[in-house]
Amino acid sequence: MENKVAVVTGSARGIGKSIAEKLAKDGFRIVICDIMEDEVVKTAKEMEQFGTKTIGVKVDVTKIEDVEKLFEETVSTFGSVDVLVNNAGITRDTLLIRMKESDWDAVIAVNLKGTFNCTKAAAKYMMKQRSGKIVNISSVVGVMGNVGQANYSASKGGVISLTKSAAKELAARNITVNAVAPGYIETEMTKVLPDAAKESFLNLIPLKRPGQPEDVANVVSFLISPAADYVTGQVINIDGGMVM
Ligand code: NAP
Repeated sequence: MENKVAVVTGSARGIGKSIAEKLAKDGFRIVICDIMEDEVVKTAKEMEQFGTKTIGVKVDVTKIEDVEKLFEETVSTFGSVDVLVNNAGITRDTLLIRMKESDWDAVIAVNLKGTFNCTKAAAKYMMKQRSGKIVNISSVVGVMGNVGQANYSASKGGVISLTKSAAKELAARNITVNAVAPGYIETEMTKVLPDAAKESFLNLIPLKRPGQPEDVANVVSFLISPAADYVTGQVINIDGGMVM
């Protein structure tokens, strides 16, 4: 993977950071991008320990101008964009009848529109290169739905449909587009869940443990490797067997 370039959104912490670390160990040059500037700088610096070249760019994925600049900077620094991992995501959980329009709009904007913005901007470069690999981070609730997550589950279901459409459109240019659907992974995002919600997730997991960010990173690493060259438009659950 030497000299190949991977952009991971929302990679200052959590699953995105773990994916960036795994890809750095795989030999990719890494572009850390996230909405929190200080954290971007800190995480990009930490990547140096893996001996790969890294840049950090502050990006709000909901803003197309930010996203276009991100890929311009990536290509001007490293010469190409070979991999995009659309990982940036947020939750604004509450029951449907209490959900404010702003809760709906914020989640759709980051999780779904952000994925569209980055895919479109990256595809421009990948189509010229006639190669590329895109992995979108969806969620099992994008398939199953979940109480208190109408906005989040709709956004993640949308990410799955977007993945399949993009896979069909971009296949002719040798670009694969896949999604992973994590279940309950221990990060800052899930730390705030009430104990009852954590317990009910655990009861649904045959492997009887929450997932770790590394469990997601390992599958992403496979999907962007040459071993997965013939895999596109797929959704892989990473959930300890929660959905089967
Ligand atoms: P996390 O720790 O909250 O990390 C998400 C990162 O995305 C944060 O650094 C966040 O910054 C950043 N971000 C938010 N809005 C952004 C924007 N507009 N532009 C750029 N970056 C932005 O969450 P995580 O658990 O690692 O989740 C990573 C992905 O996995 C998300 O798409 C999530 O939906 C998905 N996922 C997680 C789980 C799970 O159990 N943890 C399960 C299924 C799917 P701020 O902190 O400043 O918002």
